[in-house]
Amino acid sequence: MIEENVPLARHTTIGTGGAARWFARPETVDALQDALRWARDNDVATEVIGLGSNVLVHDDGVDGLVIRLAGELTAAAVEGSDLVAGGGAPNAVCLHRARAAGLGGLEFASAVPGTAGGGVRMNAGAYGREWRDVLVEALVVDADGSRTLPVDELGLSYRRSALAPGQVVARVRFRLHRSSPEAVKEKVAELLAQRKATQPTNKRTFGSVFKNPSSELGAGRAIEECGLKGHRIGGALVSPRHANFIENAGGATSAECIALMAEARRRVHARFGVELEHEVQFLGPLELPPL
Ligand SMILES: Cc1cc2nc3c(=O)[nH]c(=O)nc-3n(C[C@H](O)[C@H](O)[C@H](O)COP(=O)(O)OP(=O)(O)OC[C@H]3O[C@@H](n4cnc5c(N)ncnc54)[C@H](O)[C@@H]3O)c2cc1C
Repeated sequence: MIEENVPLARHTTIGTGGAARWFARPETVDALQDALRWARDNDVATEVIGLGSNVLVHDDGVDGLVIRLAGELTAAAVEGSDLVAGGGAPNAVCLHRARAAGLGGLEFASAVPGTAGGGVRMNAGAYGREWRDVLVEALVVDADGSRTLPVDELGLSYRRSALAPGQVVARVRFRLHRSSPEAVKEKVAELLAQRKATQPTNKRTFGSVFKNPSSELGAGRAIEECGLKGHRIGGALVSPRHANFIENAGGATSAECIALMAEARRRVHARFGVELEHEVQFLGPLELPPL
């Protein structure tokens, strides 16, 4: 079933943006394919949203079909030392299943509040590990059908994949290793404590705003050195805790987030000669002004 005019702000962690003109919540691979075919046959652009933890939606919304996986496409189950998860399975669910089965290797994902499929698209990572280290294969669906692609055919590199628009990760297989529920729990607690000490974990954000330009110069440090920590435009605030985060400090709009991002890019370019590339993904016709 295709719904109309569904507000997207509540489907994002930053809580800004307008509505999707069309919205689908497919619960099976067949229903997902039907939605993708409907979009192709009606010449409608397609976007996917996971937990919306790394997206910024245009304030006027998205003039297309936005798909959010549901039902069996959000489940996860252990098979031997593999974890097989729907593309819409929250990382917290994946981690819970792995821990209960005494499987380790996914602990780093506790710091990443997204889904298994969103993690593939972004090659999400934390604490020196990323999706491609644990991913074996992904079932990728588009309007023409579905294919299981091994990890080395997904083009995963730093916060990047080769997935094209209209390609949806419907299922993934992670390969984990034998551990114990206690050891997994302990590692997760350690990583979450580190995270809490350095990042605004209790605020509405969309995670990292920009990719790190290099291992020597982190985006957060560059923005902080340009004096932008705590800088505010309307309801959007450069996090006083970590400058590579924008907080929705109350009633923020996506346009205000973009204005802060543009200012950060301008100042970092003037000071360091570096062009920051945004990590957050845009839904709808958002863009940053040229430098
Ligand atoms: C507090 C906080 C901390 C964060 N920390 C980290 C971190 O340490 N490391 C890190 O890498 N990220 C981090 N993030 C960003 C975010 O959690 C990750 O990028 C995550 O993988 C996004 O998953 P998602 O399901 O929410 O995807 P969304 O944010 O909904 O979407 C992100 C992109 O993936 C696409 N997408 C989503 N689902 C699918 C799918 N099934 N198939 C194809 N494409 C899809 C979307 O179209 C979009 O382009 C953080 C975010 C927050 C809010």
